[in-house]
Amino acid sequence: MDNWLAAAIVDNWVTVAVGVLMAQAVIFGGLTAYLADQKGYGYAAWFFIGLFFGVCGLIVCAGLPLEYDARAADFVGKRCPRCDERVRVKASVCRFCHHEFNERTE
Ligand SMILES: [Zn+2]
Repeated sequence: MDNWLAAAIVDNWVTVAVGVLMAQAVIFGGLTAYLADQKGYGYAAWFFIGLFFGVCGLIVCAGLPLEYDARAADFVGKRCPRCDERVRVKASVCRFCHHEFNERTE
């Protein structure tokens, strides 16, 4: 029988509630920090966002674009002379048609 456990929980429900909330906060903080780190964002700031906003912070973090994608979206590229797709300035091979660039013709 675990009536004593139920009784203890009822008696100390405030302590239990605070404990559960704190455990949740730390778990969501950790998850948010991990997710942010995977996406290339600073994990320290996101740990506290997860800590304070719980699942909301985690959802916001999950909705973020990848940091390198955000950079890639507005990178200044060059056009491939063969397929006319935009590729990175430093690319030596076109990622679309595998055209090889050289320094003189780009
Ligand atoms: Zn190309």
